[in-house]
Amino acid sequence: MKIVTVVGARPQFIKAAAGSRQLRREHQEILVHTGQHFDDNMSAVFFREMGIPQPDYNLGVSGGSHGQMTARMLAGIEEILQKEMPDALLVYGDTNSTLAAALAAAKLRIPVLHVEAGNRLGTLDNPEEINRKLTDHCSTLLFCATEDAKQKLVAEGLGHRTHCVGNIMYDSFLYFAGQPWDSPNILALDGSPVTVPDSYYYMTCHRQENTYSDEPLTAILAAMNQLDAKTLYPVHPRNRERAERVCRVHGFDNIILTQPVGYSDSVHLTQHAKKIVTDSGGLQCEAFYAGVQCVFVLDYVVWPETMVGNRNQLAKADTADILEKLSAQQCIDPDYQPFGDGHAAEKICDVIRVWEKER
Ligand code: UDP
Repeated sequence: MKIVTVVGARPQFIKAAAGSRQLRREHQEILVHTGQHFDDNMSAVFFREMGIPQPDYNLGVSGGSHGQMTARMLAGIEEILQKEMPDALLVYGDTNSTLAAALAAAKLRIPVLHVEAGNRLGTLDNPEEINRKLTDHCSTLLFCATEDAKQKLVAEGLGHRTHCVGNIMYDSFLYFAGQPWDSPNILALDGSPVTVPDSYYYMTCHRQENTYSDEPLTAILAAMNQLDAKTLYPVHPRNRERAERVCRVHGFDNIILTQPVGYSDSVHLTQHAKKIVTDSGGLQCEAFYAGVQCVFVLDYVVWPETMVGNRNQLAKADTADILEKLSAQQCIDPDYQPFGDGHAAEKICDVIRVWEKER
């Protein structure tokens, strides 16, 4: 089949690394990059380091309001789909790129294949929840990372199109976690190299809920600054200016701000960290895979499977709450693995093969 895959943001590149490799064994894939993330260290580094094929199209759409961005992507993707007339469109996750592509394809009666379907926070206050729900409801094949996500889709009447295949990010994680970490390339905001301390906490924080003003980010950083080791915090370009200013004004010198790091560095930083504090959906799962305790700073649970034995705890953007959660001990059941076996990409291709024959 000819399959158009649309990606646009960092977590989608990481998923596409595993997905494209497998898909191209059997199908012709046309890769479209919407341009949502465009800095070298938010985009190109993943293509280079993870062996992702170069995009066939780059729409160069970034910035603007959610509506403007989605509309420009929708128009651009529709044009590509009309020209390529693929047998299916494949999308990952829950970004504006995901929604725009799914809408464009569904209106052209091109079947949509959605990887990482069925995740629900239970509130439309979260902009990605809107993307997830709408994409799921106009998709033909829904690939879930966990049994819980599958049950959410069953409850929404989509069970007959749903397949639980495991988390495709786990495929990428296992591959990179097994590689040597020879030459970390971690740069401070001024471009100078950063030496990874022997003992450190790893933090990422960029969600709108935590970075829309100084207050939540300051509370989170104040907690990290009080810990018994330094915190490495690769800053998303969206809140770089705010993070830099907050650290400077409050004298948070126990925190090392860095530029975004490549995937191999992120995986190895995760594996060797004392603990992790994040508002990232992907990083909390990687902490879980690595057996490193995580505190997830948000008002909603994103991956309920990780919330066992204090392995991942929800905290408010509140200094005392984060410190309290960080002081807890975790308990790991080595037999508990709700994210599959690291072969999600193969399972997705198995389902596509059967569907292709039957349709
Ligand atoms: N990540 C990375 N470099 C960084 C920060 C994060 O490679 O500087 C990886 C991280 O390991 C995880 C993914 O990016 O796999 C998470 O992406 P992001 O936080 O942008 O999205 P979310 O998980 O919130 O959807």
